Amino acid sequence: MGEKIIGIDLGTTNSVVSVVVGGEPVVIQNQEGNRITPSVVSWTKEKEILVGEPAKRRAILDPQNTVYESKRFIGRKYEEVKDIANKVSYKVVPDEKGDAAFDIPNAGKLVRPEEVGAHILRKLKEAAEQYLGEEVKKAVITVPAYFNERQRQATKMAGKLAGLEVVRVLNEPTAAALAYGLDKKKEAKILVYDFGGGTFDVSILEGGDGVIEVKATAGDAFLGGANIDERIMEWLIEEFKKETGIDLRQDRTALQRLKEAAEQAKKELSFKMETEISLPFITIDPETKQPLHLQKKLTRARLEQMIEDIVDRTIEIVKRALADAKLKPEDIDDIVLVGGSTRIPLVQKKIKEFFGKEPHKGVNPDEVVAVGAAIQGSILSGEKKDVLLIDVTPLSLGIETMGGAMTVLIPRNTPIPVRKCETFTTVRDYQTEVEIKVYQGESPIAKENKFLGSFILSGIPPAPRGVPQIEVCFDIDADGILHVTAKDKATGKSQSITIQPSSGLTEEEVQKMLEEYEKHKEEYERKKKLVELKNQLDQLVYPIEKLLREAADKFTPEEQKELQQLVAESRKVIDEATEPEEVEKQIQKVQQIASKYSEKLYKLAQEEKKDNEDKKDNKGDDAIDAKPVD
Ligand code: ADP
Ligand code: MG
Repeated sequence: MGEKIIGIDLGTTNSVVSVVVGGEPVVIQNQEGNRITPSVVSWTKEKEILVGEPAKRRAILDPQNTVYESKRFIGRKYEEVKDIANKVSYKVVPDEKGDAAFDIPNAGKLVRPEEVGAHILRKLKEAAEQYLGEEVKKAVITVPAYFNERQRQATKMAGKLAGLEVVRVLNEPTAAALAYGLDKKKEAKILVYDFGGGTFDVSILEGGDGVIEVKATAGDAFLGGANIDERIMEWLIEEFKKETGIDLRQDRTALQRLKEAAEQAKKELSFKMETEISLPFITIDPETKQPLHLQKKLTRARLEQMIEDIVDRTIEIVKRALADAKLKPEDIDDIVLVGGSTRIPLVQKKIKEFFGKEPHKGVNPDEVVAVGAAIQGSILSGEKKDVLLIDVTPLSLGIETMGGAMTVLIPRNTPIPVRKCETFTTVRDYQTEVEIKVYQGESPIAKENKFLGSFILSGIPPAPRGVPQIEVCFDIDADGILHVTAKDKATGKSQSITIQPSSGLTEEEVQKMLEEYEKHKEEYERKKKLVELKNQLDQLVYPIEKLLREAADKFTPEEQKELQQLVAESRKVIDEATEPEEVEKQIQKVQQIASKYSEKLYKLAQEEKKDNEDKKDNKGDDAIDAKPVD
């Protein structure tokens, strides 16, 4: 059995650490005896660094020296987060590289978001070490699905600073899906509803047989439990003002206590129908100099009135995610609740109303992400034996491209871990979506290989074919887990899929495929040639087709007829030809006829090409054969 790999949910508001012991995930208590650690770090005048609960208690009292929600800034340029910077009470500034950093007076230096993360991670690491009675060196850390490469790298750096090797940066919804057991299902779609402290995220995932795929994500980066606390605080402040005429907003100590009391009351109302908020000596009457007390009763019904619009907003975002995934509520097999705010009964009620069924009740919503990370950790440490470990890729891995060809990104027998990227483009004009289909095998025809999974990258700005640049990356880690990402270079929009090795081929299947390949090598070569020639023919015919469509008036009716016939004939060859020779013949024919019009065609084509080149330099990338998605 390998070394323990702990799982950490490094949350915006709270963090949790978990580890699999004897096959079961355990959530580890921190030094204060809590399973949840606030993601807050505070620097005192004495240069002491407080982390977690003790730091959170100073958030309002010493706002400039207390950093909360630092996750909003990790791996970001200052310019990108300028607006968010105004919403926090500590000072966010650009460092010398233009990255967001914190100017903390008591720290006496710039503090980077990675360092804040590292303080939190170190505390959790130490808690885990205490629990396990041994040194912990490795961790799986989760991040939101929408985190980009820089944010992920910065998260890894935070781990490194805490003395942890981050063996995997795992998407939070994927972690929740792992804890739910989505990879073990035959085939299922789940919706992960993550309502945390400061953010709301929805992800729709599809899984089964070792594969977990994120289908759609949506969210609001400023919608969370804190908004609910604020509503309660506002109400308390208003009530107190009505009774005493005193505005508590001016009093920092009072505000800190109000905030704590509001959150506490909210939590209690998840289990009780009413609660008593009691803050003795909240302030001093400026006239009588007598201490004043705040005493208020809050019922669940009253709270629900206060926050109904907030909960409704989350349902609107759920609808958006469903629309993106082209699914209806009834297509979702299970709703997995993540985040402390999903404990609120009104939240559960609204979800039930919307989906017509109870959300899944499995792991604790505020612990499920860390548990999923721990499960991933145990797979990586080799503790879970049902996962096939390999050190070279036994078969080629690639995607389907134009004409059904298999374009290999990682050839067989490549040592892993490995990362390969290639840029592709579209086959049709104004195509806004491409489907990335991942296959494993040696046939030049994608469909003849083992299909591993697919996903759609949408939102590509409409452009002529050949212009969009879509970068597809294959990433296989040391455990054979394949991550495929596609990114539109123009918008930076990306989609990805994770394929567990167990979903690949068994030893025997691999052997069989390799034998097959050796036996039919010649046939494979022929097929490959056929696809290549068909693509070549398509390249020739396409501009003619386009001219007929867009500039037919440049040709006489006879000319039009001849060209139309040529196009129809060629299309038939592309669709039906089974022999390379057939295609070759047609290519010659097209070239011959086209040469008659060469001057005209050339001129028009040049204009067209120039048009495209003005928009983007076209490097002749391979085209992804994407089915139009309606
Ligand atoms: P994040 O993922 O943002 O770090 P969490 O998932 O830990 O956050 O959620 C934290 C939020 O959940 C806080 O706003 C907290 O007040 C809220 N919360 C925790 N427990 C409860 C509860 N029992 N009822 C209502 N809200 C709760
Ligand atoms: Mg969270």
